[in-house]
Amino acid sequence: GDFPIETDTLVIGAGPGGYVAAIRAAQLGQKVTVVEKSVLGGVCLNVGCIPSKALIAAGHRYENAKHSEDMGIKAENVTVDFSKVQEFKQGVVKKLTGGVAGLLKGNKVDVISGEAYFVDSETVKVMDETSSQTYKFKNAIIATGSRPIEIPAFKYSKRVLDSTGALNLQEIPNKMVVIGGGYIGTELGTAYANFGTEVTFIEAADEILAGFEKQMSSLVKRNLKKKGNVEIHTNAMAKGVEETENGVKVTFEVKGEEKTVEADYLLVTVGRRPNTDELGLEQVGVEMSDRGVIKIDKQCRTNISNIYAIGDIVEGPPLAHKASYEGKIAAEAIAGEKAEIDYLAIPAVVFSEPELATVGYTEAQAKEDGIDVLASKFPFGANGRALSLNNSDGFLKLITRKEDGLVIGAQIAGPSASDMISELGLAIEAGMTAEDIAMTIHAHPTLGEITMEAAEVAIGSPIHIV
Ligand code: FAD
Repeated sequence: GDFPIETDTLVIGAGPGGYVAAIRAAQLGQKVTVVEKSVLGGVCLNVGCIPSKALIAAGHRYENAKHSEDMGIKAENVTVDFSKVQEFKQGVVKKLTGGVAGLLKGNKVDVISGEAYFVDSETVKVMDETSSQTYKFKNAIIATGSRPIEIPAFKYSKRVLDSTGALNLQEIPNKMVVIGGGYIGTELGTAYANFGTEVTFIEAADEILAGFEKQMSSLVKRNLKKKGNVEIHTNAMAKGVEETENGVKVTFEVKGEEKTVEADYLLVTVGRRPNTDELGLEQVGVEMSDRGVIKIDKQCRTNISNIYAIGDIVEGPPLAHKASYEGKIAAEAIAGEKAEIDYLAIPAVVFSEPELATVGYTEAQAKEDGIDVLASKFPFGANGRALSLNNSDGFLKLITRKEDGLVIGAQIAGPSASDMISELGLAIEAGMTAEDIAMTIHAHPTLGEITMEAAEVAIGSPIHIV
């Protein structure tokens, strides 16, 4: 065969897991090679977190421009040039993926374009269309991410879209059906609803965003319904799709009754599966679950001692910040540091209306673990900043341990919940009590004061509610 190239750490996949691992490994003095078969930045930067947030932001702007009458603003003939929206979105993606390329280069990481395949526990073959090259590594970090699940009754096509297809539509659909009211379906459905698309959600569970507390998800549901162009069917089973000349006809069942809805597009967001099936992992004996999830220890090491795995291909929430966090841990473990993963304070955020965010324990989870907790709530409606933003729908709930006031969790529904949750993650990581947060001076008027006030509720002395 070919003459092998040697490297210290070989990273497979350049998503938020892989590129972060590569940079950290290089910072720690290793010779690092990262192999990417598609584009730098992975799902998150190219067809996930970033483009979806750009589309959501544009949808908000449009919606706000049209509907700010209650603040005395009336705009007529507000229009959308959707190709410009797409250009804006792709511009953001390009800036960030270009940034990743620059960072990898700046850290002297070798970036190889091609698909990696394990030959044995020290060797991968990297193939592109025309050639193949062997790499020998001391350690490898697998960060190959995940892809949308395809269900047989809903094969992806020009009209039956996965999240990537929905992000890249070239026109605003008149009607769209979304199967799956998880965060991806809810975010994309909301974005299109704001652009004027009639959106029908079909969700099997009894709530959309079923992973969140009902108090939170029901706020989202109420706002969606208020839009007037959104229909939500919960406890609904999607049955099949028929492609018509210019669209789709989707059948679903609610309470034993069969219904159909026609639309331009069907978006199917019913979960993702790990990209571990075409990597040659069986050749190496890397242990996986039936679902193809790679088993790792607290340092992200697989059962093969020089092979690590991070991100969407391992247990835990499939989120970009979790992938990056694990990437740093794996790189540090390879460098002989004592770093270990601790999933206590991984935030999860939905960019819905209002935004939802959670970190650490919920009340119910604490109960399950036998921890006696206090749940202290403060409403956005009692906060000056939220009111002056004309966006005061929501609440913050602080979860503290009863015996000593230790902060162990928080849930937020409200504007900027996605940013506010960081303070609470820090509080958990730092082992702070409600009193520590309550005694921290928060600038006025800010949404951050909601966090302070919830902490004051926890210690029994809130100023702005009785
Ligand atoms: P990926 O980002 O999937 O990257 C894996 C990379 O590996 C890819 O670039 C792939 O091409 C490459 N690869 C695969 N196999 C090989 C091979 N054999 N050889 C070489 N390269 C290979 N998460 C959040 O935290 N916040 C959000 O707001 C958010 N929004 C999302 C919105 C959408 C629409 C979607 C689909 C996902 C969203 N996510 C979000 C999830 C997030 O994108 C993933 O959790 C994250 O990208 C996982 O990172 P990763 O590094 O594990 O894998």
